[in-house]
Amino acid sequence: MDRCEYCGRILHINRSDKYFLCSKKCKQKFKNKIDILNTNKFVLNLVSKEWISVNDIVSSNTNKFEIVSSISRLIYFEKKLIKKEKGEINLITNISIKKR
Ligand SMILES: [Zn+2]
Repeated sequence: MDRCEYCGRILHINRSDKYFLCSKKCKQKFKNKIDILNTNKFVLNLVSKEWISVNDIVSSNTNKFEIVSSISRLIYFEKKLIKKEKGEINLITNISIKKR
């Protein structure tokens, strides 16, 4: 099962020849590596070893899609975060830092 390398959702149709990307939007955003790093940093600063919901992280923010995508990548690809619930990530999913 492949996932979009930007948003982390399960890939149904690949819109890229080189990478796994689910949409034009993800393809566009995937190019901006500085934005990606900054969003990852923002997320990692808010998450600790305590559970926090995705909603608590995005609630005060306008770029929800970017933040939820970052959370997905940090769980599925970078494996820096873990989630409490099974299934796909949504606003009520609880996440925390992966313990070593
Ligand atoms: Zn995507």
